[in-house]
Amino acid sequence: MAAQRRASSCRFLWASLSTAATSVTPWLVSLPLQWEEVSGYDENMNTIRTYQVCNVFSSNQNNWVRTKYIRRRGALRIHVEMKFSVRDCSSIPNVPGSCKETFNLYYYESDSDTATKTFPPWMENPWIKVDTIAADESFSQVDLGGRVMKINTEVRSFGQLSRQGFYLAFQDYGGCMSLIAVRVFYRKCPRVIQNGAIFQETLTGAESTSLVVAWGVCIPNSEEVDVPIKLYCNGDGEWMVPIGRCICKAGHEASENKTICRACPSGFFKPSQGDEACLQCPINSRTTSEGATSCVCRNGYYRTDSDPIQMPCTTVPSAPQSIISSVNETSLTLDWSSPRESGGRDDVVYNVICKSCGGGRGGGCTRCGDNVRFTPRQLGLTEPRVHVSELLAHTRYTFEVQAVNGVSDQSPYSPQYAAVNITTNQAAPSAVSIIHQVSRTVDSITLSWSQPDHPNGVILDYELQYYEKDQSEYNSSTVKSQTNTAVIRGLKPGAIYVFQVRARTVAGFGRYSGKMYFQTMTEDEYNTSMQEKLPLIIGSAAAGLVFLIAVVVIVIVCNRRRGFERTDSEYTDKLQHYTSGHMTPGMKIYIDPFTYEDPNEAVREFAKEIDISCVKIEQVIGAGEFGEVCSGNLKMPNKREMVVAIKTLKSGYTEKQRRDFLSEASIMGQFDHPNVIRLEGVVTKSSPVMIITEFMENGSLDSFLRQNDGQFTVIQLVGMLRGIASGMKYLSDMNYVHRDLAARNILVNSNLVCKVSDFGLSRFLEDDTSDPTYTSALGGKIPIRWTAPEAIQYRKFTSASDVWSYGIVMWEVMSYGERPYWDMTNQDVINAIEQDYRLPPPMDCPSALHQLMLDCWQKDRNNRPKFGQIVNTLDKMIRNPNSLKATTPLSSSVHLPLLDRSVPDFSSFSTVDDWLDAIKMGQYKENFASASLSTFDVVSRMTMDDILRVGVTLAGHQKKILNSVQMMRAQMNQIQSVEV
Ligand code: AMP
Repeated sequence: MAAQRRASSCRFLWASLSTAATSVTPWLVSLPLQWEEVSGYDENMNTIRTYQVCNVFSSNQNNWVRTKYIRRRGALRIHVEMKFSVRDCSSIPNVPGSCKETFNLYYYESDSDTATKTFPPWMENPWIKVDTIAADESFSQVDLGGRVMKINTEVRSFGQLSRQGFYLAFQDYGGCMSLIAVRVFYRKCPRVIQNGAIFQETLTGAESTSLVVAWGVCIPNSEEVDVPIKLYCNGDGEWMVPIGRCICKAGHEASENKTICRACPSGFFKPSQGDEACLQCPINSRTTSEGATSCVCRNGYYRTDSDPIQMPCTTVPSAPQSIISSVNETSLTLDWSSPRESGGRDDVVYNVICKSCGGGRGGGCTRCGDNVRFTPRQLGLTEPRVHVSELLAHTRYTFEVQAVNGVSDQSPYSPQYAAVNITTNQAAPSAVSIIHQVSRTVDSITLSWSQPDHPNGVILDYELQYYEKDQSEYNSSTVKSQTNTAVIRGLKPGAIYVFQVRARTVAGFGRYSGKMYFQTMTEDEYNTSMQEKLPLIIGSAAAGLVFLIAVVVIVIVCNRRRGFERTDSEYTDKLQHYTSGHMTPGMKIYIDPFTYEDPNEAVREFAKEIDISCVKIEQVIGAGEFGEVCSGNLKMPNKREMVVAIKTLKSGYTEKQRRDFLSEASIMGQFDHPNVIRLEGVVTKSSPVMIITEFMENGSLDSFLRQNDGQFTVIQLVGMLRGIASGMKYLSDMNYVHRDLAARNILVNSNLVCKVSDFGLSRFLEDDTSDPTYTSALGGKIPIRWTAPEAIQYRKFTSASDVWSYGIVMWEVMSYGERPYWDMTNQDVINAIEQDYRLPPPMDCPSALHQLMLDCWQKDRNNRPKFGQIVNTLDKMIRNPNSLKATTPLSSSVHLPLLDRSVPDFSSFSTVDDWLDAIKMGQYKENFASASLSTFDVVSRMTMDDILRVGVTLAGHQKKILNSVQMMRAQMNQIQSVEV
């Protein structure tokens, strides 16, 4: 191992026989005249004192001389340096063979100075021999009387010592020598500051090879790195093998040859522990005290979290310069120059704020909506240019271009900006993006298309241009349509036509859509499709309705005979057929998803695809037709989290089931009205397939009303009905016929807002027999109690048949979820309606509302009110609550509508308990019994006070019982008068 050697030091314990000629306290000799203290000369002719012995001519010599007591002072190992000269035996004439040229060195340990002339005895053991010392050089000429001597120097060491002190002794056993000087010392490693740590003075170990470990203490303001710092002190008193080191802390630097860690002076900083020196504070920053680890920014200057601490502090940029706008119809381009001052940073970006001005009341400016499009983006623009499109035509805007950089958000001031005012031009509508074929015959094609994404005003009408594919475009014909649909007649069979459509506003025509190709049917195709359809139609006919098939067949045959003058397509039944003329021009029209060749395309067009990672399912809240309905949360990027309902498609579905399930989303996705359930989107790219809608806290209306029987005011109930009517007006305006309007298909939210839902088509399908509400009829299943007679009889489903169903919903609402026509059979209901029977007013139902129901149930559908009129009527009632005060007088109940079964005739029950069950107040049987109300006679005399006393506390229940009691009285009177 390459040991690093360090400076050592030694400490003398004792020295004697020094070069000084002055006498020192004599040593003790064992016998007189053996070792003698005499004066002589060293090599340099200095006078010295020595101990000499030279008894070579006497045999058996044993001459000892010993030092005084020497204190050990903690040393474990002692070193003895001896200077002496020895006479060469051969140079002494006639010397006997016993002549020696060596002597022995001994030591003896003792805790105190206890040695005497005779103690310890002059012999090895108790003395401990260190070594026999021989001379390197001896001299031949005896000349003790002033001649030069050859002086040897030898060093010996011994240990380990444990007593307080010791003596040294030199034994001559027949030589001629002189002891000139003896130095006794020990070795130690001195106190050092090394590797940033202080090591205290350390004595060497007991053996010459010993290494004594010494732990260092870090100098102030430094810290150990990794391992505890240590050095080893070797037998020579040298430091070696340094391990670990201490390094100056942050805010301090090494100084004075790394022996101290000095605090960084003011205006300097050091961010971390290390060997490096303090750095000067970056520009625009300063220190607040000495020993700074960082410099703080001066006022108005900042640093981002990712800015290096050595970087100058920076500030916000000045405003962009020279902003230039160029407007093109409803879009514009803004260009500007970079700000004069970047704030010392190179991360300046731009935000564009759009405000539209003068549109609102007072002519102020308001922030533009989400629909304005910025290219490449609105915020964080790296280039000084943006293209803004989809602005409103003919509108004044202000654009502010802000310059921001990495520290703008730390400044208490808003970013500086340059602004420009512009006014957009009048603009024609954008192009229609897609045209669909709705149906076709041999000589006609029915097309529909989506409204342009940017109408830029009210669409007055559409122009459809078409020509045969093989013909020149110059021979094209045009058709105008006020809706987004058109039937093009008079076409050739089996021919391909090219179609293009464009919208028109006051600003003129928009661009034509791309060319789309559609082909009329060939006669063969037509015949085949008819042959395929006939057995199906016949096979599915209900026995009692065979005559209707005959009608259909006759109609088809007649149509064929008429040379396809007006051929209903295979879609006629599903199609939401409409005639242009009564519609608002440009009005959006509902498109049946099943008119798409690929219904998945309808889903893509009308329903937003949601990534499953945005959806969190929480709990199951119901069972839908195709799987569970759950509540959960939807968190779309950059949108607030919202509670949603999630309809799932259970696994193992067929492709057809998937299509039917998703058809509801394709329908719902076309609607946007506060009283129509809103589609948030669909999940089709992962399993299970889901339809996600807004969440309606109170669930379906029928069960909600049943759970809250009698709990609402008439105005609250009318408010709910008004919402439903408004949603239905919207749907009918879009030419959508619901076909299954019923309280079970209305959802209620926490604010009692009712929304029309359930746009699934599948329950109408023939093969679904699971739900008794829907009765098989020709071409599908029908909810008999809710359906208008013409729809039951010949499937004439129209908005007018929806109005009939709405009347039933009114009745359900006013009776708190009672089943329409109670437990009558469907056939009885059909017969009763046919004979002009209608549902009576539910209990406490204002006459005006019942009258509106009866209007909805007009036999002739043309006489029924439109949904718009219903909304107006209900609005009037809400504005004038007095109109809702009048209810049908009980006394005249016998003259009431023919189907008055809302309050059952008491005489058909044998006990009061049965009667209470019948009026759905069975929970009060015990209360009645304990108040001895057990006969009809007693019950019929009950007053409101009596009902209260019995313990009926709910207002709705009190009313119900009181009404039934009054009815009982009226029926009793009638019986009596008949008897009379
Ligand atoms: P549906 O398949 O639409 O008939 O739904 C089945 C049941 O799930 C309904 O009767 C409601 O109780 C519940 N449900 C459906 N959609 C929602 C919704 N948007 N919010 C709350 N509950 C709903």
